[in-house]
Formats: sequence, C-alpha cells, structure tokens
Amino acid sequence: MIKAVVGANWGDEGKGKITDMLAEEADIIVRFQGGANAGHTIVNDYGKFALHTLPSGVFYGHTTSIIGNGVALNIPVLFKELQEVVSKGVPMPKLLISDRAQMVMPYHILFDQYEEERLAGKSFGSTKSGIAPFYSDKYAKIGFQVQELFHEDTLLEKLKSVCDTKNVLLEHLYHKEKLVPEKIFAELMEYKKMVEPFVCDTSLFLWNAIKEGKEILLEGQLGTLKDPDHGIYPMVTSSSTLAAYGAIGAGVPPYEIKKIVTVSKAYSSAVGAGAFVSEIFGEEADELRRRGGDGGEYGATTGRPRRMGWYDCVASRYGCRLQGATDVAFTVLDVLGYLKEIPVCTAYKIDGEITTEFPTTELLEKATPVMETLPGWNCDIRGIKNYEDLPENCRKYIEFIEEKLGFPITMISNGPGRHDIIMRESKLNA
Ligand code: GDP
Repeated sequence: MIKAVVGANWGDEGKGKITDMLAEEADIIVRFQGGANAGHTIVNDYGKFALHTLPSGVFYGHTTSIIGNGVALNIPVLFKELQEVVSKGVPMPKLLISDRAQMVMPYHILFDQYEEERLAGKSFGSTKSGIAPFYSDKYAKIGFQVQELFHEDTLLEKLKSVCDTKNVLLEHLYHKEKLVPEKIFAELMEYKKMVEPFVCDTSLFLWNAIKEGKEILLEGQLGTLKDPDHGIYPMVTSSSTLAAYGAIGAGVPPYEIKKIVTVSKAYSSAVGAGAFVSEIFGEEADELRRRGGDGGEYGATTGRPRRMGWYDCVASRYGCRLQGATDVAFTVLDVLGYLKEIPVCTAYKIDGEITTEFPTTELLEKATPVMETLPGWNCDIRGIKNYEDLPENCRKYIEFIEEKLGFPITMISNGPGRHDIIMRESKLNA
C-alpha cells in the first residue's frame, strides 16, 4: 500500500515527525518533490536532525530511502547530509536515486541569489537554494537528469549550449562573472562519483515493490498553500506539494495511493512573504514562537524566525481538500498548554462579506480573520497516550477544529518524539 504524508498549510506542520513515526512500519520512503530549500526536524534516539534532502526513513535499518524523479537533487547537500547522519551513529541508509531525477546545478544557486538581489525589496523570500531556477530550466527542457552524467560527450556539448544562454543573462542583466562549461563539467564528474552506487530506475523498483505488497510512504515537503497551482501564487514553491503529484514525482500509479495523511499544526506558522490571515505579532507572537515546535519556531534550513498565527480553519480545510486528506494528523498540540484561552480563525471577511472558502491571492490580501475563542486546558499534555485521557477542553479544541475541517483527525501529536502520538477514531469515519 502507498501512503502519502503531506502538509495542509504553509509547511513546517511536523511532517518529518509523522513520516518518521509511520516509517517504523514501512519498507520504502520516497521523496517526490522539492529540494534542499526546506527541512524536516526529527528527534530520535540518535539525536536531533534537520534533514533537507534525505527522506525521513533513513534512521531505520529496515527501510529503503528513495530520491524520486520529481526532486530537485542537490548532490553535494545530499552527501553532506548522508555523512552527518552516519557520523552520528546511524547505520548507512539503503539509498536509491532516480536516474531521471534532475540535478541542481551550481549556477542555479547563483541565479537564485542574483535574482533575489535584483528584486531587492520585492523578492519572493527565496531560500536561495536554486529551486526556482532549477524548475524553470526543467520545464524549459534545459535541465540535467542524473543519467546524463553517464554520457560524457553529450553532457559537455549540452552544457556548452546552456552556458551560452546563461552567460547572456549573467553579463547583461546581473553583471556577474560568466560560466565556464569545462569547470562545471569537472564538478559534475565529482557528482557522478558520489551518486554512481545509488542510481537506478526507481519507478521500476517501486512498481515491483507494489506488486510484492510492500509498504511505501511518499514524503511531501511544504504544504498545500505553497503549491504552484493551488497555493498563494506567486508566493509559492516551484514544485507541486500535493499528494497527487506523488504519483508523478515518484513514478507510481495514482490509484495506488490509498491513504493521504495530511499534517496540520495546532496553530499556524509560515516562512517567506505572502498573505497570512491569522498572523499575530508582538509579544503574543514571540511567546508562541519561543514555545513552539521543539525549541522554537525557527526555519530548519535558514534559521529564520517563522511568522506566527492562530489556527486557520479556512486555509486548513482548503489545504485538506486539495490534498484529498483521508486522515488528518493534528500536531504540536502540547505547545498550546500555556494558554488560558485559544483564538481560532473560523472565517475570513473580504470586502464586508464573510466566507469560509479560501480565495485567490488578490482577495486573500484583503481578507481579515473572523476569530472565535475557545477555552484552553492550561496544563501539560505530553506523555498522554489515550484520547479519553486528554483534558476535556483539549478534546473540545480538537473536535471543534475537526468539525470546521470536515476531515477526520485520526492522529494527535503531543510531543516531538516518535511515540508522542495519540491515535483516535473519528466520528467522520463512522
Ligand atoms: P516539517 O517540515 O513539516 O517536518 O516540520 P518541521 O520539522 O519544520 O517543524 C516541526 C517542528 O515541530 C520540529 O521541531 C519537530 O521536532 C516539532 N514537532 C513535531 N511534532 C511535535 C509535537 O507534537 N509537539 C512538539 N512540541 N513539537 C513537535
């Protein structure tokens, strides 16, 4: 069976922890989109890890980790991560890299930086990992697949031609140093040495695994609202963050994805620019940021302080709908234990009208939140294993949100650790 673990919101919902937990019973974990621009934080017996490229299954000896064709593969970052994981005592993971995955080229990172500089105040808040230039080139058909490393003559030819067009921009738009194809070629030959033992036809591997009845997890990066089609365009990422794209980015039949675990955090956070209707500021935001996640809400890749907000039912319901959530994993609920009262955004007001449907970007910019306040539980819920043992107000908070979402909350995460989870039967599944 294939399960996808994806985000309902802006990312940082705690997908890494949920994937790590579900990986215990999985055979294969696949990354199917995105690149080293976002990270998962995972806490386990080996320590605390921020993974950007490796799938969250790497900590288990029994799983195979796959970098799917849909990923923006930054080879040096992947290998640095691999070394880091192994140096902290984790056994060498079984890793497969799709021969059709495309590589983040050294110039993609440069172009990302130069474009942010050029846009200055009007930038998209890129992490400067080369992701947007990478996907632009992929769809302009001037990207490089991993398999091209093994065809040196044609590789150098193509590289020269690509550098010709890139150099026009470097010279005349950005006024920066020009690219030398031979230098990039030499770098690519280093990449080749690194990836050679791992490269194969991963979609064939997965096809056979499906036939053998293996448990497969697709691990998404970011969340619905960062999807280039359905998110808050243009403040989005450059590859689809939806479970549906898992079929493409891993190369598996769409009908094999039977479960879509959609992760949503018990409050909101976002990085980068863009409308964020339930955003809070000042001391209220600082306190939530300090207490949030595991050691504060700061970007796993960038260390940037995240923007904070209360739970947004409108955005999350939309997020679950576009993912096709079969299960909602409601995470980081323990963090809210300090509050006497908890505000929740239940609708938006746009041009005087109240709506519970998530609008397109221009309207979203005008939206103001309609808030309701629920009583807090004002205690620590970490360590609780059964739903019935949660304080009544905590259960009421979960049930209130489930009703607003219209999707079943079947998992509640009450701590960063792998086993800090409460499984729950939802009435919506009855
Ligand atoms: P991801 O990118 O969706 O995996 O999310 P991040 O890893 O960026 O953010 C999640 C943060 O919250 C990490 O620091 C996790 O260790 C932490 N975390 C995940 N679930 C829980 C939880 O239930 N409670 C607490 N306190 N922290 C959690």
